[in-house]
Amino acid sequence: MSEDNSQGREYTLEADSELRFEIEQKNAKVLVTLLTGFAELFGTELVKKKKYEFGVGAKVAIFTYQGCVIHVSGQMDVCYISKETPMVQYINCHAALEQFRLEAEQRDKRGPSVLIVGPMDVGKSTLCRILLNYAVRVGRRPLYADLDVGQGAISVAGNVATILIERPASIEDGFAKTAPLVYHFGHKSPSGNSVLYNAVVSKMAEVTLQSLDANKRTKSSGIIVNTCGWVKGSGYEHLLHAARAYRARAIFVLDQERLYNDLLRDVPANVHVVLLPKSGGVVERSKGLRHESREQRIKEYFYGNARTPFYPFSFEVKFQDLRLYKIGAPPLPDSCMPIGMKAEDNKKKVVAVTATPALLHHILTLSFAESTDDDVIGTNIAGFCCVTEVDMERQSVMLLSPQPRPLPPNALLLWSELQFMDNHA
Ligand code: ADP
Repeated sequence: MSEDNSQGREYTLEADSELRFEIEQKNAKVLVTLLTGFAELFGTELVKKKKYEFGVGAKVAIFTYQGCVIHVSGQMDVCYISKETPMVQYINCHAALEQFRLEAEQRDKRGPSVLIVGPMDVGKSTLCRILLNYAVRVGRRPLYADLDVGQGAISVAGNVATILIERPASIEDGFAKTAPLVYHFGHKSPSGNSVLYNAVVSKMAEVTLQSLDANKRTKSSGIIVNTCGWVKGSGYEHLLHAARAYRARAIFVLDQERLYNDLLRDVPANVHVVLLPKSGGVVERSKGLRHESREQRIKEYFYGNARTPFYPFSFEVKFQDLRLYKIGAPPLPDSCMPIGMKAEDNKKKVVAVTATPALLHHILTLSFAESTDDDVIGTNIAGFCCVTEVDMERQSVMLLSPQPRPLPPNALLLWSELQFMDNHA
C-alpha cells in the first residue's frame, strides 16, 4: 500500500527502535532529515539537519540507540517503526571482534577474518556493512571481501572482489568502491563452475591475507567476508572452503540453525561459530527482483547514478583483434583425458571463444593477464565491457566501456555468462 507523505511527517523513535521504509515506485523520492537525537543507517551516523535522498529500490532502516526525531517526506510503499531489532546482538559481535583486534594489535598479529553466512535475503550484506562501519568508526581499516557472485556488492555479479574500508559508507551510495581487487569468475552462481569458484576464492584469500601484513592498521583490523546465499550441498562445501582459505577466526551465521550446527560440527574448535537472528525488516527478493538488482549494479558500473553520472564510450573491435577466452572446457570423461590430467583440470582450462551473434549483451572482463601463458585465473582484472552489437558482415563487435580508448593491442578478454541490455538513451 503506497503512502503519499509529500507534506512530510515527523517520527519520534524510542531508544533501540528503527524506522523502516521501502520505495518501489519509479521516480519516487523520499527525503529524510534527523531533527534531534542520534540515528544511523546500517552503521553510518546521520548528520543532524542534513537532507538525505532515497530513490526507487531503497529498503532502509534508520536505527537509534538513544532515541531521535526524524522528518520524512515523499512517496513510500511501506513505512513503519519497529522496536524488535537484532542491533544489540550485532553490536555485541562488533565488540567481540574489537577484542580480537586489540589482541592482534598488541602481538603484531593479523586481526580476525570473519565470515558472514546464511541463506539468501537474511541481511548478510547489511550485517557486513554494519560491522565495517562500526570498525571504521573506532579507527580500524578493515578489508571487505565479497564472495557473493550472485549480486556483486563491490564489483558486478560474476566476480569476487575486495576493498579496503577507510571511511563509513555513504548513507545514500554505500561504501566508496575505489581501487577494488577483483577476480573474474564469469557465472552468477558458484555452481556455474565449482572448481573455478574455489580457485578464485583461494587466490583472493591468499593475496589479501598477505596484503594485510603491509599496513599495521589494516593488519590488526582483519577482514569481513560476505558469502553466497547458497548454503546446501555444494554451496555448503564452498563455505567450508572459504572458511579454510581465509583462516576464519569467527563465522556469524544468520537465521539458520541447521547451518549453524553443521558448521559447529565441521570447522575446527578454535573457530567461533555464532548464530544470529535476522532482522524482521530484511526484505525477501523474488528471482525477478534479484535479477533487476544485478542489472542495476551493472548499469551503475557503466552509467553511475543520478548523483554521480558516468558517460561511457563505445568503440568497434574487429573479430581478428578480439582476444576472447572462456574459463572451463566442456567436461570429458576421465578415460578421454590426456595422461596425467583429471576431468577437474578441464574446469580451469582457458579456451578461445569465437565471435558469433551469441555474444550480444554479454559482459566481457578485461584481464591484467597479457597472454594465456600467464596465470589467467590468478590474475586480477582491470574492468568490464559489454557487447552492444555483433556485425557479422563487418566482422566486428561494438563494445561499451568506461574507458575512452580502444582496447590495448594485447588486451585479453574473458567471457562472462552475465548479460546487460544497454537501453540507456
Ligand atoms: P543478503 O545479503 O542476505 O541477501 P541484504 O543484506 O542484501 O541480504 O538485505 C536484503 C535487503 O533488505 C536489502 O535491500 C537491505 O537494504 C534490506 N534490509 C536489511 N536490513 C533491513 C532492515 N532492518 N529494515 C529494512 N530493510 C532492511
